[in-house]
Amino acid sequence: MGKRSLKVGVIGAGAAGLVAARELTREGHQATVFEQGCRPGGVWVYTDAVEEAHMPGAKEVREQVHSSMYRNLRTNLPREVMSYTDFPFTRTWQDSRRFCSHQEVEAYLEAFADAFDLNQYIRYQTRVVSLKPLGRPSAHGHALPNGALANAKAQNSSGHAMTNGTEAAQDDAEVAPPRWRISTEPAGTHGSRAPHSEEDFDAVVVCNGHYSDVRRAELPGAESFPGTVVHSHSYRDNQAFKGLTVIVIGASASGEDICREIALTADKVYLSARSWQNPAWAHDSTPFGPRRNVWRRGVPVQLCADGSVEFEGGETAEKVDVVMHATGYKYTFPFLREAGVVTVDDNRIEHLYQHIFPPDLAPSISFVGLPWKVVPFAQYELQAKWIARVLSGRASLPSRQKMHAHIQSFYKELELNNVPKRYTHMLGDKQWAYNDWLADACGDVDRLPEWRPLMYKVAGDTKRAFPERYRDEWPESKLVGIAAQEAQSLGA
Ligand code: FAD
Repeated sequence: MGKRSLKVGVIGAGAAGLVAARELTREGHQATVFEQGCRPGGVWVYTDAVEEAHMPGAKEVREQVHSSMYRNLRTNLPREVMSYTDFPFTRTWQDSRRFCSHQEVEAYLEAFADAFDLNQYIRYQTRVVSLKPLGRPSAHGHALPNGALANAKAQNSSGHAMTNGTEAAQDDAEVAPPRWRISTEPAGTHGSRAPHSEEDFDAVVVCNGHYSDVRRAELPGAESFPGTVVHSHSYRDNQAFKGLTVIVIGASASGEDICREIALTADKVYLSARSWQNPAWAHDSTPFGPRRNVWRRGVPVQLCADGSVEFEGGETAEKVDVVMHATGYKYTFPFLREAGVVTVDDNRIEHLYQHIFPPDLAPSISFVGLPWKVVPFAQYELQAKWIARVLSGRASLPSRQKMHAHIQSFYKELELNNVPKRYTHMLGDKQWAYNDWLADACGDVDRLPEWRPLMYKVAGDTKRAFPERYRDEWPESKLVGIAAQEAQSLGA
């Protein structure tokens, strides 16, 4: 079978963009990665800089900060399970702990980039400002055949099978995917007259991350509240919280962690949430945390001018100094705004097939790294392998109609199960079936070995049972042994 080799632009050199570059080039494509930062690693590249000047302890303030890492962050997954499939995370750079520091993860990602010589493809300090589909819109509103993918289709009729599915081929005849013009500016020059440059690509893989554009809870009364209201995106350390009364809103991984860290220096901390990992916690009024000075509360319903805060359920916290949203982040694609390629509604990126391809533009634009509550790196790798193979023609997509129908039935299923729209890309336990599906769709890729879901489960169970100690008390050795053996067989 003939293989297409395309010119592909990748946006971002975090964990997703790095593995996308590796898989694309392995498959014979030419990849160019645009990265606004000056190093690989994305969110793992720690910075003291923050976006909110009023965050206690803020040292350096910048308009836009990508990383949400705080100084003492340790991973919430064991390092073994965080690894890509063929680049074990068993070697130590500076921190051998199983739940290691953010510096160690950054070192791992840098080593991955070095091992596969990926820096040659990356243009650092280059921000993508817009992505434009090229080609005339057809009567259906899509771009008409234009460029390499369309040319590849022509080659197809002269004897090289480019897709496995006839339906897909018929669909392509109707509307071919566009090529893309990527416009960039030197990073750090936003809004200035610094020169923009433009380059055209056959396809684009979007890997821009989704932990930078903050989401905040509604807080009635915030305008007249005398305390400080901030987001955990700008939290770096607990030193400036000494003696304060703090409310942390949101009890997901970051909220819980930050709350325990702040409790080491603050006077009182209230952890506020709509629901709890362990439902029994909703009725538990005993303080917890390293100094037993953290209380669980419902969501804040009113911030008051006298500095108090009222919670759902009628309880009140007096003299609150800081209210910190740890309410997560929004998917955002500022460079796609003009093209109107994707719509984000209530944190659902509308109409994506398998969280990756918008059917009407597939396969020329794809997204890596959208699912959350997952073990990310290995999943990104499977997504990238599939994208690379679909672009080369070694794997095929169903017809557009079928992709649309699949998306509709997926949305129906979420609705039937009362899953809110904002959880569309939340996979949790479904991640393993999704990963298997991706591996199978590639045709020549092994499914992830069993020790990975098992280790993930042990990590989750241990965390729920011992939220304060789980990082330092790994309860089993069998899975760790299997992971070590696998690493050894890979030459690590
Ligand atoms: P990112 O790492 O965000 O990379 C995106 C890249 O795109 C960045 O380098 C950015 O500069 C670049 N970019 C964005 N826009 C543009 C543009 N317009 N032009 C050019 N470049 C652009 N995962 C774990 O496995 N274990 C953990 O313990 C863990 N802890 C976490 C703790 C926190 C606080 C956060 C926020 C996340 C954590 N994660 C953890 C998840 C983590 O986000 C993923 O592991 C993964 O690193 C995300 O990779 P990414 O490439 O998708 O995104």
